[in-house]
Amino acid sequence: MGVDIGSRCVWCGVDTSAGSGHWVNRLSVGTTGDTVFWLPTELRSEDIYVDGWSCAECAGYECDECGKQIYLDEDVTDLDEMGHYHRECLPVEEHWSEAGETCGCGLHEEAN
Ligand SMILES: [Zn+2]
Ligand SMILES: [Zn+2]
Ligand SMILES: [Zn+2]
Repeated sequence: MGVDIGSRCVWCGVDTSAGSGHWVNRLSVGTTGDTVFWLPTELRSEDIYVDGWSCAECAGYECDECGKQIYLDEDVTDLDEMGHYHRECLPVEEHWSEAGETCGCGLHEEAN
């Protein structure tokens, strides 16, 4: 059995329909009811298929510093290329980038 949650984000429940402010970069997601924390209890079963969306905030990585979600593709990587951070959460000199370039996060102007 499945449940149709319309345009809502399966992870945070935000409305991702056009005009909601969360439509850009949303991704189609299929998951099971037990992973969708905001569903009513009776639908929170791994036997229930949930067809919905992931907003761009939820589709990105979780920040290794503050633990909050990072907007899709706006994370920066540390020098080990292992972690993912908000650009503000990692000291600028620890942002990974191609040799001779900045990582493109916009916080490197003073280094030029
Ligand atoms: Zn979301
Ligand atoms: Zn952070
Ligand atoms: Zn940077």
